[in-house]
Amino acid sequence: MLITLQRIVETVNKAPDFKLALYTMVGQVRDALKTDSCSVFLADDENQQFVLAASDGLSAEQGDPIQVDFGEGIISLAAQREEPLNIADASQHPANKKLLQTNESEYRGLLAAPIIHRRKVLGIMVVHQSEARSFSREEEAFVVTLAAQLAVVIAHASAKGLLANDNSPWIHSLQGLPGSPGVAIGTAFVSRPEVTLKEISPQRSDKPQHEIRKFRQAVARTRADLKQLSEQMLGQIPDDTLAIFDVYQGMLDAASLGNAVESMINEGWRAQTALKHVVEQFIDQFEALEDSYLRERATDVRDIGQRVLLHLQKRQRKARQFPAQGILIADEVTASMLAELPQDKISGIISLNGSSNSHAAIMARSMGIPAVLGVDDIELHFFADKQLIVDGYTGEIYINPPPQVLEQYQHLAEEEEELKQVVAEHAHLPAETQDGHRVSLHLNLGLNVQSAYLQQLNIDGIGLYRSEIPFMLRDQLPTEDEQVEMYKEILDQFPDQPVVMRTLDVGGDKPLPYLPLQEDNPFLGWRGIRLTLDHPEIFLVQVRAMLRASIGHSNLQILLPMVSSINEVEEASRLIKQAYFEVAEEQDGEAESPLVQPQLGVMIEVPAIIYQLPALANKVDFFSVGSNDLTQYLLAVDRNNRRVANLYDAYHPAVLASLDDIARRCEELGKPVSVCGELAGDPGGALLLVAMGYRQLSMNSYNIDRVRWILRNVCSGTLEVMLAKALQARHPDQIRKMIANKMESMGLGGFVRAGK
Ligand code: PEP
Ligand code: MG
Repeated sequence: MLITLQRIVETVNKAPDFKLALYTMVGQVRDALKTDSCSVFLADDENQQFVLAASDGLSAEQGDPIQVDFGEGIISLAAQREEPLNIADASQHPANKKLLQTNESEYRGLLAAPIIHRRKVLGIMVVHQSEARSFSREEEAFVVTLAAQLAVVIAHASAKGLLANDNSPWIHSLQGLPGSPGVAIGTAFVSRPEVTLKEISPQRSDKPQHEIRKFRQAVARTRADLKQLSEQMLGQIPDDTLAIFDVYQGMLDAASLGNAVESMINEGWRAQTALKHVVEQFIDQFEALEDSYLRERATDVRDIGQRVLLHLQKRQRKARQFPAQGILIADEVTASMLAELPQDKISGIISLNGSSNSHAAIMARSMGIPAVLGVDDIELHFFADKQLIVDGYTGEIYINPPPQVLEQYQHLAEEEEELKQVVAEHAHLPAETQDGHRVSLHLNLGLNVQSAYLQQLNIDGIGLYRSEIPFMLRDQLPTEDEQVEMYKEILDQFPDQPVVMRTLDVGGDKPLPYLPLQEDNPFLGWRGIRLTLDHPEIFLVQVRAMLRASIGHSNLQILLPMVSSINEVEEASRLIKQAYFEVAEEQDGEAESPLVQPQLGVMIEVPAIIYQLPALANKVDFFSVGSNDLTQYLLAVDRNNRRVANLYDAYHPAVLASLDDIARRCEELGKPVSVCGELAGDPGGALLLVAMGYRQLSMNSYNIDRVRWILRNVCSGTLEVMLAKALQARHPDQIRKMIANKMESMGLGGFVRAGK
């Protein structure tokens, strides 16, 4: 039976279209079970019916479709119970409902299995036998297995619009991942790369000098293109986002791509072939990384590779007209693609691949363009020239929407614009509640350290500098002097405000390309402080560099990641002291630029630490809660695993209870505590945290002014009520809904859904 099963699955997967796949399946199931008929009914949610989509054996008169209302018949019973029904004589069953216009009344034996995808019943597979028959357990398992396989086929077909035709309501919208909030309405503009690495077939050359010259010219032209693109974007997007173009330029450096390509050319390959080989190797390496931010960099490498290839092939770019209100759609929307198009005309973005960490998403957020990413299994041409609505809050995309939906979204889009204006107009004001509780808003920094952009922000300091990010974009550890430059650039910009620099949080899920790791459970492995304490030479160099960079200032604060026990803090403290005395000694005699001992903090992100706060309190100056990892470790849910993404939720009552607990414990201990995970920048999350007593929140630049405006519109009494309700709730959804309702009633609904 297993072989039959495999054969059916293979044939169905190979079927050129969905209808044929369905017919193939019902025919083969009927044969395999030696039964009289096999049929598939699909759920039509709008009309609340199951509609016969394919059958082998159930003969029907031509004409109206065969359907069963939800709640009626044995079919609905299987759907309601979400389990197979194996009934020897269905004609005697109380739920039996005769399907008119069919020969169903000839049948007695029945086996029905629900077709379920991601917890949603998409349809029912039914097997009939004319005489009474009790199907065996094995046969039952066989049909259930096939129904599960069919669920995936149906879900994909539904996404591809294959179920849609003029009289079928099966497709209404597609679901992707929300990438950038907001609502966009416009005409699809499908963008495809003009050349792809895929199309290059290996070719040799016996003129290496000529090939190298060609390659270098192509790189130089690509550099010039990128420079021009980056200049075009100047002033249009924050400088932190513009830094993406520096990353692109860095990828073109000899140490990244160039040397490897040239050495392959010297081995006798054409420039195109060498480029393809090297770039694809890079892509494979990035794609194998666990860290979602770095994995997304594979897209950037491919984009850069294809840009160089375009020049190598000496192809001209074809200019195409971008619609006045266009929605840009590509397999992978890249930063440079965005830069090349008229930004004032891009009203929305859909990237079939990617996630909220893609540069496309990062840029879209900083440009305030709504975006949806990661739309499964749908081909680009499906969208061409269609009218679309992109809902960046929910991740939904509507295709050729009906007039009522369109009208509703047009109204919401206008309101969004008004809200953006209001937020921007209040950016210069302090973040405080209506009854005067001041909250410090700090910035999370990684890639983006350029001054012009940072100077524009109204912030109280840097709450988290993720020092590992520049380490990850290199091919070897930066030297101490290089690190001094990196850290100085930041510390110099905030002489009067705290700058919290976190020591390297690499290892495990964020391996350095030059320190490869293979671990079965990387999130529970050699990560953060665990790795750096095992490599004091790396830790000491980093801390020395931070201290040297801080000379003349008193703003440096050092934060330790992934701490799970006291002795890690003691050990790190000892090393920091050692570095301090070394640097102070080297500094001796330069009294006008004294070295100030930095404050030391610990991240609360491993739950064990919550129970050790009293013991830690006299060893450190402050705490910072990493709600991203705290959620992952408290719930035992991998933060990067899509399969369990629905379980990863910082609104989980246990996470909120522990955040509340941490705030209270720190207050009792008299230790300052901030939150630097994503929850701090989430509108509802920020309100709950302030209600718990947190007075320092650190977040990305996009959320700073939004959170400021929200805080200015609430008073602490309301927050307390919200928190009390949240702490009593049992499910994250309940909490979310309660917060959304509350925000709605305060006129702040526009921060949690489309509209104002
Ligand atoms: C966190 O875990 O919440 C955090 C801020 O650190 P990172 O996301 O870099 O792990
Ligand atoms: Mg963390």
